Amino acid sequence: MSVVRVKDGIEFTMIAPGGFRILSAIDQIAAKIGMDLTITSACDGEHSGPNDPHHRGEAYDVRSHDFPDAEKTDFLNSVMTILGWDRFFGFLEAPGTDNEHFHFQVKKGTVYPSS
Ligand SMILES: [Zn+2]
Repeated sequence: MSVVRVKDGIEFTMIAPGGFRILSAIDQIAAKIGMDLTITSACDGEHSGPNDPHHRGEAYDVRSHDFPDAEKTDFLNSVMTILGWDRFFGFLEAPGTDNEHFHFQVKKGTVYPSS
């Protein structure tokens, strides 16, 4: 059975409601595609400063190096189909580099849930 795993040292200091949606979508896709997925960043790390959604529990990174190149877009789209582009955002960050990973977050400039 395929599951979501967490890289050693990753901190889930807080998980916002939108963050739970992201983690749920990632878990659903792991089960669907039959491949373990690894969270490589949660609330930890420097990222882009104090307002970074990672620090609010509204953004999570997933290891992309486990995927064949041809399947990376499919994975991204599968997760985003569950989440919806109107409320969430996801992309392949730093493609082709050692730092390459999928990044998912609550859409910038929005509050989740909105009301
Ligand atoms: Zn990230």
